[in-house]
Amino acid sequence: MALVLFSGGQDSATCLAWALARYERVETLGFDYGQRHRIELDQRAKLREAFVAIRPDWAARLGDDHLLDLSALGAVSDTALTRAKAIEMSAKSLPNTFVPGRNLIFLAFAAALAYRRGLPRIIGGMCETDFSGYPDCRDDAIKAMQVALNIGMESRFVLETPLMWLDKAQTWALAQELGGAGLVEAIIEHSHTCYLGERGARHEWGYGCGECPACRLRADGFTKWRATAGA
Ligand code: ZN
Repeated sequence: MALVLFSGGQDSATCLAWALARYERVETLGFDYGQRHRIELDQRAKLREAFVAIRPDWAARLGDDHLLDLSALGAVSDTALTRAKAIEMSAKSLPNTFVPGRNLIFLAFAAALAYRRGLPRIIGGMCETDFSGYPDCRDDAIKAMQVALNIGMESRFVLETPLMWLDKAQTWALAQELGGAGLVEAIIEHSHTCYLGERGARHEWGYGCGECPACRLRADGFTKWRATAGA
């Protein structure tokens, strides 16, 4: 039984499929913190519906969806994700899309919910490989958080990060492996990655402005996967 951090992006959509392939009951959790790409929150229900349409055997496994209001996180952030600012690099050479400690906060709320729901596994799409400089995506940060949560909540949570050592091309390959072409198509069509919240034109890799760092990472990964998969 597992709780998946599910934002509606490519990574969390792939994590949801990964969890559904493994666990008998899977619940999903999203956060609304006033992100500019809030459009991704609208895609969550569409992805859930598409997944069970593709894999009817997953329907019995897919449990409740939870959406938590974390507007306080937006209030303490002054970043390109929550304000109408250009995406640029800060003095610490972090992109200013960085909300400080965002994943640590997400994991703390996820654990509180998982505790109440009796879900021992918490699954997130954190990834160190396509590391944009977000220190709270690092494997060590997640492992430290697991220890802190287990001590602080007297629990035995396992934090699982199936994408930690994959690049974006390998993440597309994982989706193919988990659910075939239908799952890849559902992720292309319904998952949202673009930082600017742009969903105008569909590219072969999905919707987005095509120019922001998130779109470029997704598009480059897709192109690389297609080239290596010989498709
Ligand atoms: Zn974009």
